[in-house]
Amino acid sequence: MIDFRSDTVTQPTQAMRLAMSRAEVGDDVYGDDPTVNELQQMAAQMFGFDAALFTCSGTQANLLALMSHCDRGDEYLCGQQAHNYKFEGGGAAVLGSIQPQPLTNQGDGSILLSDIQAAIKPDDVHFARTRLLSLENTIGGKVLPQSYIAQAQALAFNHGLKIHLDGARVANAAVAQNIAIGDITSHFDSVSICLSKGLCAPVGSLLLGDSRLIAKAIRWRKMLGGGMRQAGILAAAAKLALTEQVERLGEDHANAAYLARALGEIAEFDIDMSLVQTNMVYAKVAAGVDTGALAAELKARGVLISPAATLRLVTHKDVGRADIDKLVLELKSLLRQS
Ligand SMILES: *Cc1c(COP(=O)(O)O)cnc(C)c1O
Repeated sequence: MIDFRSDTVTQPTQAMRLAMSRAEVGDDVYGDDPTVNELQQMAAQMFGFDAALFTCSGTQANLLALMSHCDRGDEYLCGQQAHNYKFEGGGAAVLGSIQPQPLTNQGDGSILLSDIQAAIKPDDVHFARTRLLSLENTIGGKVLPQSYIAQAQALAFNHGLKIHLDGARVANAAVAQNIAIGDITSHFDSVSICLSKGLCAPVGSLLLGDSRLIAKAIRWRKMLGGGMRQAGILAAAAKLALTEQVERLGEDHANAAYLARALGEIAEFDIDMSLVQTNMVYAKVAAGVDTGALAAELKARGVLISPAATLRLVTHKDVGRADIDKLVLELKSLLRQS
């Protein structure tokens, strides 16, 4: 199957499978897994933090960050479209007793600084204590401008807030701007990064922060059932995600642009090319097209997409130009028939 639903579907590389089979391992709950320790040290250095923690998912890394920055009755500011608000089961509220304060995301994915400022609660018994600002980069495939991030960092600092980055796809943001990942992450007190999306590791994310934050996160991770034992098997692949897969993301971005241009020539699709910045293409579908039926027909022809009024198509290591050509050809033929 050719799969455009997400970059989470990427298969681990042969090099990853080989590294996994040969990984030196120990009990990571005791801190004894040499491969996990190498991964965490490498990531901390690469992204400019004291410490890093390997987690089983991005959702867990974000939850650990929120629970380590905020206590019960505290609040974090985030976007209405933020993954750690909208797509993580309300974990911060359910498991952390932390109140989310979602704010409107602008078309470019940013949150207006004036909206952030206005949402910071004064010290008053009526209010939750505003502790944290959480941004996301990339967000919906869009890159937050570096100047905006610097302004948000200053605003947070001036109000005594910590600032977290949901950087599930921060490597895409860095590659798209031709800068180091550290140039983005250096603006934040903590960062989560997914290794199992475009970076192709089978499992795992990282949380980065200072030693105190990571020490707290280790406690929460254990409580949440996320303490893994011979996790070096996974960390071996995760190391290669960071050393061998980051530069390759440029191909995914070029392929997304190629796909967007091709879809733009089909009358039923409306694409804003200015939003095609990394590995995602959003195609607004003309009213009257049944995308559920379209997805089913495509599936019968060996291509997977997620049906929606605005389709999200994601490029990654396991879809190439020929696969994109096939998708476009099949779409054209199906839409002609309907
Ligand atoms: C995928 C994703 C996550 C969570 O990752 P999982 O590993 O699926 O839990 C968090 N934030 C963003 C922006 C994501 O895209």
